[in-house]
Amino acid sequence: MKLSFRPFELQLKHPFSIASFTRTSTPIMLVELHYENWVGYGEASLVPYLGESIDSATDFLNRLDVSAWQYPFDVGTLLAQVDSIAPNNTAIKAALDIALHDLWGKIENKPCYELLGILPQNMPATCFTIGIDTPENISKKVLEAQDFEILKIKLGTKNDKAIINAVRSVSALPLYADANQGWTDKYQALDMLYWLHEQGVQIIEQPMPRTMIDENAWLTESSPIPTLGDEAVQRLNDVAKAKGVYTGINIKLMKCTGMHEGLKMIHLAKQQQMPILVGCMSETSCATLAGATLAPLCNWVDLDGPFLVSNNPFASPVFQQGRYQLSNEAGLGIKM
Ligand code: MG
Repeated sequence: MKLSFRPFELQLKHPFSIASFTRTSTPIMLVELHYENWVGYGEASLVPYLGESIDSATDFLNRLDVSAWQYPFDVGTLLAQVDSIAPNNTAIKAALDIALHDLWGKIENKPCYELLGILPQNMPATCFTIGIDTPENISKKVLEAQDFEILKIKLGTKNDKAIINAVRSVSALPLYADANQGWTDKYQALDMLYWLHEQGVQIIEQPMPRTMIDENAWLTESSPIPTLGDEAVQRLNDVAKAKGVYTGINIKLMKCTGMHEGLKMIHLAKQQQMPILVGCMSETSCATLAGATLAPLCNWVDLDGPFLVSNNPFASPVFQQGRYQLSNEAGLGIKM
């Protein structure tokens, strides 16, 4: 097998703000695995706050030798080899995981969902994320999100009620909310959750800092809506720790090293009776199609990455009634 890769700067349609930062573009690394006449595509979204960069990803890929990789391969065995190169580096590991799955499907001439025993007809609707902004801009962004049936609103500020009021002034859609660890007083957080519930908010992601374990557990116990651990849940090890602290978990391929480990997290969460949201970073349709392949196993879907960027180098995902339509072509259905 042969590996090639190139950096790419993904431009955001609007500057994106959450409780802790603002940015206008995201560096990504595009990866290809070549085997005979097949090419598997993968992508790493190197969002700055997670500690990876074009340099760290390049360094990681230069340490990987795929020349001995042959088909038939076992995805899990090859990815264990990738994971052992260095700790962390979860996004670039995810790029290799995605490329391997895409390649596997193409060699077998089957869509990946079929290889993984996933039923595409169980696909939930995906939400569209509205970042922190002024009330006027928030109302404007909501009006631009016509193709979506659910909105996800970033909160965790001092103006959370004004943000929701701005959304509600122009839209009656169901809402998800994400505080991104922005609330630090559990009593105020609980009052806010009751208010949000009355406003039609269905779930809350990472209400309080991930280090406030007892407070998050207390809040989950009393909350009128499910709480989901996101910043608190990176890899498989974190799923058992989230039990009793959050109602459910948010998985993202860029945090958990990709589809292989993501599937294990989904199965463990289900065993623990914890519902699952599959999310994404600023990504092209390459990585979100990998996430969408797992989405029929999840309760909620937040895969709006390609809709928030202006220079997606891949074809836009096929999207109907707010849902990803998985391609019946071989692999992950990623097209240049
Ligand atoms: Mg989140």
